Amino acid sequence: MSDGRALAREFLEQQKLLGGNPVILPALPGGEMRDAGGVAPQPPAPAPPAATHPASRIPHPRLPPAGLSYDPPGGDLFSADPLQQAASLDAVATLVAACTKCRLCEGRRHTVPGEGPGDARLVVVGEGPGRVEDETGRPFVGQAGELLTKILAAIQLRREQVFICNVVKCRPPENRVPQYDEIAACLPYLFRQIDLLKPRAILAMGGTAAQTLLNTKQSLGALRNQIHRFRGIPVIVTYHPAALLRNPNWKKPTWDDVRIARRLLD
Ligand code: SF4
Repeated sequence: MSDGRALAREFLEQQKLLGGNPVILPALPGGEMRDAGGVAPQPPAPAPPAATHPASRIPHPRLPPAGLSYDPPGGDLFSADPLQQAASLDAVATLVAACTKCRLCEGRRHTVPGEGPGDARLVVVGEGPGRVEDETGRPFVGQAGELLTKILAAIQLRREQVFICNVVKCRPPENRVPQYDEIAACLPYLFRQIDLLKPRAILAMGGTAAQTLLNTKQSLGALRNQIHRFRGIPVIVTYHPAALLRNPNWKKPTWDDVRIARRLLD
């Protein structure tokens, strides 16, 4: 397929994702018609059976409007940088384990590169490891992790189906917000992980994850309720589970956000 057709297809798929009408492309040689997603149009589906599962009672929210799009520079195939040569998530984790590129390496007990299957359709990105994560080397464990597991279950996802990681891979002292230079040093690992995973959607949890992925200083409140894009991948912004533990009033908006993420996966 030519680059032009590939770009056209991606554009049409984005329009479809954002609620546009299906676009019918010209007939293929066999007389077959295809829509923008490359799927032959199907006859109208029969009415769905009566709801029997709790998930079927969830009304589909309208997808929100498009927001920011950030396309950071990709890797250089000819680079000698070992990160650009890392061909698997495990290879990235190995590089993270030996990393001393910023001061956060000094107080860490374990690096926390992230975990999840290589074919995860959803990537959850938080801010940085906390105390329990630093002790275990696993992201989103402890109370916030339990809440994340419940949030995922509410959209019919098991934690094991999702890749979960953070912007920085070592714990900031006293759980402070990572500083700009620390984020800048660590970001190539996250970018490489996303490159390898090529997920269907990214859920940015908390202001640091959202602002970093979208290269913006806008507040989390201003970034919610839109579908942003990171290298063409839809990004949904919502509250961090640790913030929900402090302010349960944010659970309802978080629920609204994750339902949008779920819809992007379907
Ligand atoms: S936070 Fe990231 S850049 Fe800093 S030492 Fe840890 S892995 Fe390296």
